[in-house]
Amino acid sequence: MLGGTFDPIHHGHLRSAIELREALGLDHVRLIPCHQPPHREAPGVSSEERLAMLEVAIAGEPGLMADDRELFREGPSYSADTLASLRAEYGPQARLVMAIGHDAFLKLGEWHAAERLFDDAHVVVIERPDHDAPLPPALEALIAGREVETVQALMARPGGQLLRLSLPTRMAISATFVRERLALGDSVRYLLPETVIRHIEAHDLYRPQSE
Ligand code: ATP
Repeated sequence: MLGGTFDPIHHGHLRSAIELREALGLDHVRLIPCHQPPHREAPGVSSEERLAMLEVAIAGEPGLMADDRELFREGPSYSADTLASLRAEYGPQARLVMAIGHDAFLKLGEWHAAERLFDDAHVVVIERPDHDAPLPPALEALIAGREVETVQALMARPGGQLLRLSLPTRMAISATFVRERLALGDSVRYLLPETVIRHIEAHDLYRPQSE
């Protein structure tokens, strides 16, 4: 699972998903748009539009799947609930992984039912540029005794462990940067797929602010 607001999806997400799948030998990576983000402001673009951009971005890539399960849940979209539903679907023996970028990882100790995340899945932290910040005490406590050093050790169990992973491509692209450029009417070419750019244009999303 790679969850996110995907507001909008960009090449940083997509390369991470592909490289994560390869590095861990996963059957597939489910990209799961967050319907109501618990820890940040509501995105300016609807969940349905963010899902639609995700779908056009991954069309034709068999290893990646768009998963809309959070759109059907009321209230804040807690990852603990999403992982519980994936665990129920895949059964107790399947190896499940929740991947998060290092920026999101730094806040993991504050997440709703953070301990439950490890009941249902492994957590894999994708290192991003600028990831040297010290870990907050709540996070240190949460991950104590869970960290493993290798993919092999991680995949020996269905869940419960933590691995920090450096993927081959580390792109300093963020959705914030993409939104800022779109709001100014600046080019976002090569930051995200052309199909997504066309979707944004066709649906008048992230319009430049009028003066
Ligand atoms: P924003 O700028 O709006 O905060 P974002 O670009 O960080 O957005 P999210 O949808 O919040 O994107 O991210 C979903 C997940 O993907 C998070 O775990 C985030 O850390 C990770 N992620 C985002 N951008 C990258 C990137 N360039 N490389 C690796 N992981 C990324």
